[in-house]
Amino acid sequence: MQDFQLTILGNGAAVPTAFQNPTSQLLQYNSHRFLIDCGEGTQIQMIKYRKSARKLTRIFISHLHGDHYFGLAGLISTLHLYGRRQPLHLYAPAPLKELLDLQFKLSDTHLMFDLVFHGLPESGLIYEDKKITIETFPLKHRIETHGFVFREKPHQRKLLKDFVNTWHPGIAEMHQIKTGADYVNSEGVLMKNSDITLDAPSVRSFAYCSDTAYDERIIPFVRGVDLLYHEASFDDAFADLAGEKFHSTARQAAMIAQKAGVGKLLLGHFSARYEDPSHLLTEAREEFENSLLSHQGETYDI
Ligand SMILES: [Zn+2]
Repeated sequence: MQDFQLTILGNGAAVPTAFQNPTSQLLQYNSHRFLIDCGEGTQIQMIKYRKSARKLTRIFISHLHGDHYFGLAGLISTLHLYGRRQPLHLYAPAPLKELLDLQFKLSDTHLMFDLVFHGLPESGLIYEDKKITIETFPLKHRIETHGFVFREKPHQRKLLKDFVNTWHPGIAEMHQIKTGADYVNSEGVLMKNSDITLDAPSVRSFAYCSDTAYDERIIPFVRGVDLLYHEASFDDAFADLAGEKFHSTARQAAMIAQKAGVGKLLLGHFSARYEDPSHLLTEAREEFENSLLSHQGETYDI
């Protein structure tokens, strides 16, 4: 099975503290290295946690509040200084292009690689290859803000070795059997697909929601994902403030997780006022048992 892992580079909200960096995460799938949001200091976090920025393939920016993208120009400049040649794809709200162009113009930087900018639609498919799809969906925040969901495509069934060694099916036949076809062997006997294959591994998925007020319109987009990262800026005591600032409490994040039937909930984007956010986990678990607090530098299997 391919690697599918999420590393938290920063899980703080708004302002950095000694113990929390602004938001960024690295999602590794097979040879892909997806960076999701890029708060200030992200490239330093990558160095600290031994994650190579050179290997990044695509970057996704949820919205243009500084704690989600102020690290981007620095990271791109570093890749330029490393002598990167392969294109880098950036998915972000459209106005970001203008800002980056100006930043590089003022510093007279002519990138050595193609920075391929993809302005985000409100929702829909934004990337697809043979193995994975990536979709975006709208969140409820003060400015245009996007969630992302990364889903593996269905795997093929696996051929039993004994069957292959005994009957030597051709390449085209093997391909059909992997997609569910039965097989007629050289003695004219029909072999049922379920007798000559193993079930395909189950598909995995990850959804990212930061920043957002409590909004049940998110649920259909994240329904049934294996891992949901949802912002949890505040505790119950600040529920009113959360609503005013278009953020969520840990309990609200857990209510979304519970209603969407996800596998696990990973909480993050903690307000700088919580040096120890463990009570956020207690509140979340009252709604959804399978909640976890994210920790910077930790890697989670999906
Ligand atoms: Zn924000």
